Amino acid sequence: MDRLDPGRRSENMRRIRPRDTGPEMLVRKLIHGMGFRYRLHRRDLPGKPDIVLPAKKKVIFVNGCFWHRHPGCQYAYVPKSRVQFWTSKLEGNRQRDIRNAELLNQMGWHVLTVWECDTTDMARLSGILRGFLGNRNEAGAKLARKNQ
Ligand SMILES: [Zn+2]
Repeated sequence: MDRLDPGRRSENMRRIRPRDTGPEMLVRKLIHGMGFRYRLHRRDLPGKPDIVLPAKKKVIFVNGCFWHRHPGCQYAYVPKSRVQFWTSKLEGNRQRDIRNAELLNQMGWHVLTVWECDTTDMARLSGILRGFLGNRNEAGAKLARKNQ
């Protein structure tokens, strides 16, 4: 039962999604539900990552598709007026993101970017997070196997 035309649907998606539910809150909730401990917005790390898992040396950025120019995403458009201003501003954001991720990698951190539009599909988002974070009890599980 999908009777909305595509234009209407994306309009609805825009309305119900980003700011109302808060993509970052959603990601935090999921991670918490998986039993991970994290810290928020560590200022001493490049780009001030939204979510930091110090024990795993992993950081997560929850990025808005528009401001951070999600490649190939419908929300990563350039406004029709003041095109030059927006292009250089948004491109600047993107370059900064790339630089920060490189710095974090050099410091030994693993970086995941969750895009705003990833947060519409909970099952998919959970899969992405699980894939990145792995098993919470990795060390414990390994030990248990050894002792069997
Ligand atoms: Zn996107």
